[in-house]
Amino acid sequence: MLSIQLTCHSDHKQTWESQPVLKKKPLGNLLMAGAILFTGNSYTSISRLTGVIRLKHITHLHTENLQKQSLPLAQVADRNS
Ligand SMILES: [Zn+2]
Repeated sequence: MLSIQLTCHSDHKQTWESQPVLKKKPLGNLLMAGAILFTGNSYTSISRLTGVIRLKHITHLHTENLQKQSLPLAQVADRNS
């Protein structure tokens, strides 16, 4: 996730983030990990697609960690289908 701290000449501060954040967690990353799981895709196929358009995204390890930590029930359902 890209986060930029902005400060104007009057010292007003603002932060811009490249994706929505909830409880300090970037939601786009969770959506990506969940979308891969729920669509039955693999990280490799999604990575090939995003690579063609040069879209930056989370690593394979980060995807797996998010799926294990935040979507454990979905993983069990996926394995049983
Ligand atoms: Zn200002």
